[in-house]
Amino acid sequence: MCIVCQQPKTAGIHICGQFLCSDCEQAIVTTDVSDARYRYYVDCMKRIWLNASSS
Ligand SMILES: [Zn+2]
Repeated sequence: MCIVCQQPKTAGIHICGQFLCSDCEQAIVTTDVSDARYRYYVDCMKRIWLNASSS
């Protein structure tokens, strides 16, 4: 399940043991930093890093 969109996607990448689907990966890469969604994506990435460092 994708950490960002919570959808059971199969195509994507694994980062620090967490799954990120290719759609969200593209969204993060193409989202401008001034876009409100960017903060949401960054928060998701932080969650991935926190999960990885706590385990
Ligand atoms: Zn996703």
